[in-house]
Amino acid sequence: MNLTQRIVGAMVLGLAVGAFLNVVIPAGLLPQAFSEGLSFYLVDGLFDTIGQIFVRSLKLMVVPLVFVSLLCGTASLGSDAKMGRLAGKSIGLYMFTTGLAISTALIIATLVQPGVGIDLAVASEFTVKDAPSLKTTIINIFPSNPVAAMAEGQILQVIVFAILMGIAIANGGETGQRIASFFDDLNSIIMKMVMLLMQLAPIGIFCLIAKLFAGLGIGVIVSLAAYFFAMVAALMLHCLGTYSLLLRALTGLSPLRFFANMREPMAFAFSTASSGATMPVTLRAVKNNVGVDNSVASFTVPLGATVNMDGTAILQGVATVFIAQAYNIDLGVEAYLMVILTATLASIGTAAVPGVGLVMLVMVLNQVGLPAEGISLIIGVDRLLDMCRTAVNVAGDGVVSTIVAHSEGLHDRDRFHRENVEEAGETAGSVGPN
Ligand code: ASP
Repeated sequence: MNLTQRIVGAMVLGLAVGAFLNVVIPAGLLPQAFSEGLSFYLVDGLFDTIGQIFVRSLKLMVVPLVFVSLLCGTASLGSDAKMGRLAGKSIGLYMFTTGLAISTALIIATLVQPGVGIDLAVASEFTVKDAPSLKTTIINIFPSNPVAAMAEGQILQVIVFAILMGIAIANGGETGQRIASFFDDLNSIIMKMVMLLMQLAPIGIFCLIAKLFAGLGIGVIVSLAAYFFAMVAALMLHCLGTYSLLLRALTGLSPLRFFANMREPMAFAFSTASSGATMPVTLRAVKNNVGVDNSVASFTVPLGATVNMDGTAILQGVATVFIAQAYNIDLGVEAYLMVILTATLASIGTAAVPGVGLVMLVMVLNQVGLPAEGISLIIGVDRLLDMCRTAVNVAGDGVVSTIVAHSEGLHDRDRFHRENVEEAGETAGSVGPN
C-alpha cells in the first residue's frame, strides 16, 4: 500500500475503533473494571500519548522548515521587487478567497436557516475570552528578537526575518552564494526529515482519530443537524466549487488533479485540526506534488497557514447567522457587511491550532451585537467541524500558491500532472520556471 492508502486506512480504522469504544465503554456491556481500564490505558493512555507525540513531531518541523525554505526561496528570487510582487499577489488573493468564503457561508446559512426554532435551553457553560486587537496583531508581525520569535513559534515574525536574510543573501555576492548553498543543503535535509515523519503518520493519525471518536458521541450531530450540514455544505461548495473555478479560470489546471495532489495535507489537516501542525506536509505537497516552485511555496504556504483560513471564515459566517436566528435577532444588510469585514479579520488573526476559530467568533458576534454566549450552542459539534474547516484552510493555501506560481511562470506543469506523485521524488530547492 502506498502512503496515502495507509493514511486513509488509518483514518477509517481510527474512526471505527473510536466509535466502537464510544458505544461499548459507557454501555455497561463489559465488566466495569475492564471498561475503565480501556478508557484509562488505551484511550487516554496509549492513543492520546501517541497522538500527542505525533502532533508535536509535526510542529517540531515548522520553524526550521519555514525559516530555511523561505530563506532559500527569497535568496533564489534574487530581487526585492519580485518578492514584493509575490507578497502583494498572495495577500490580495488570500483576502479575496476569504471574502468569497464568508459570502458563500452567509448565503447558505440564510437559505438553510439552521438556527430557526432552536431550543435555547441546550446552551451549556461557555466563558467568553477576549480576542486580540487589530493593532496588537499588526505590531506582532515584526520581531524584535529572531531567537525569541523562533522559540515562541511566531510564524509571521519568522517569515519577516527569513525574507530579510534571504534578500541580504541575494545581494551578498560571493559570500551570499556560499551561504545560500549551505542553506540549500540544509533545506534538503529538513525535507528528508519531514518525509521520514510522514512514514509514521498512519500510526499517529489512527491514534488521534480513535481517541477523538472514543470521546465524541456522533449523537451530538443529530441535535444540531441543520447547523452541521449547512456548515459542511458551505465548506464543500467553497472547496469544490470556488476553488475549482478559480483554478480552472486562472491557471487552466484540472481541479481534480489538484485535489488528488493535495490529498495528504488535507488528510493531515482533518486528523490534527491544526493547519499549523500540517504546514510541513502542505509545503511538501505543494512543492513536490502540485509543482509550485520553492521560491513561491516557501512564502505562500507558511503565510497562508498563518493568515489564510477560508474554512474558519465560513465558520464565522454560518455560526453568526445561526446564533442570530436562534436568538431571534434580525441581521440587517449593514450587519452582514460587518460580518464580512470582521470575519475576514478574525480569520486572519486565528491561530492555526484546533478550536481557535470559535474563540475568534466572539469578535464577530460582538461587532454585530449578538450574545457571545451563543457559542455555547455550537461548541458540542465544533471539534468535528474544526477538522473539516482545517482541511479547507489548507486546500486554500494550495490553491493560492498554485495561482501565484502560475502567474509568475514558476509552476512545473509536468510535476503537477505526474500520475504517481511518489515517483516524482523530492524537490527541496527550485523546480524552475516551466
Ligand atoms: N483549526 C483551525 C486551523 O488550524 C483554526 C480554527 O478554525 O479553529 O486551521
